[in-house]
Amino acid sequence: MMRILVTDGMEKSAMAKLVELGHEVVEQFYPSEELGEALKGFDAVVVRSATKVRKEHIDACQGGALKLVIRGGVGVDNIDVAYAEEKGISVRNTPRASSDSVAELALGHMFACARFLSIAGHTMREGKWEKKAYGKGIELGGKILGVIGYGRIGQSLGAKAQAMGMKVKAYDIFKVESLQSETMQYVEMDELLSTCDFISVHTPAIDGKPLICAENIAKMKDGVVLVNTSRGNNVDEAALLDALNSGKIRGAGLDVFQVEPATNTELLNHPNVSCTPHIGAATQEAQTRIGAEIVDIIEGFGK
Ligand code: NAD
Repeated sequence: MMRILVTDGMEKSAMAKLVELGHEVVEQFYPSEELGEALKGFDAVVVRSATKVRKEHIDACQGGALKLVIRGGVGVDNIDVAYAEEKGISVRNTPRASSDSVAELALGHMFACARFLSIAGHTMREGKWEKKAYGKGIELGGKILGVIGYGRIGQSLGAKAQAMGMKVKAYDIFKVESLQSETMQYVEMDELLSTCDFISVHTPAIDGKPLICAENIAKMKDGVVLVNTSRGNNVDEAALLDALNSGKIRGAGLDVFQVEPATNTELLNHPNVSCTPHIGAATQEAQTRIGAEIVDIIEGFGK
């Protein structure tokens, strides 16, 4: 039986299940300076994105019981994975649980940008009726969606987009030929950038120069819609703002930001930006699936 620390919250029913299975579950958030010492007393820790498990925490809990770190969610950039594993601590995540939720949010941002949903609602609450300004919408059906990173979320979005009558072009460093069809083709990055009406980013966080930089924006079609629900560092926000101001990019749907909580007020206040505070996986269904996957990981651990 394990002593399990849950630092950033977890589905109540999944925590109850762990207790029912005989595990001890403690739900408590620790500030970074206390985390390493606290981890000594637990066999496993469950984190989301708020808790960062860094080298210093792993060093501080050496000699303790910790043998498993679970990230409830996908991105493990808040955990020093290689270092943890070097020290004999396994790191696991729940990669599939939230894919459909993130894909639906990306689709929501595409609609928001196509029909000015964010700014139209905002100005109505100010007592305005800007029918003309927001009367130049576009449809998604019949358009080409470019998906950069055709993994779990990218494929889920691609399937939904095709069902709505969009054509999909995907760029990925790893191609699954069987996914190709009349309405879905892998293409090179330059073709995707220059031919797509909507572009949605679904790669992991990529180090170095942002994928969506001034150079790549210049290659895009005029009036493209850009969506990013992946990681904030994949988009150069200064270059994006320039492109929104010039009209090169018609609208941007953003769930993730270079700095979180987001501080780039010029970008957030731009009328053609639809923004959400990193809530891609924050649906009841995803959280239920994440909780169930965490229970499975703990039950299967070491067997
Ligand atoms: P995944 O691993 O299933 O898919 C990522 C795909 O990107 C893979 O097919 C991979 O081959 C491809 N890829 C990697 N590097 C690439 C590159 N340089 N160029 C092109 N393709 C590249 O991951 P996923 O589960 O689909 O998650 C995608 C992203 O969504 C991640 O950044 C993840 O952190 C993020 N995410 C965000 C939220 C949110 O709340 N907004 C929730 C879950 C996941």
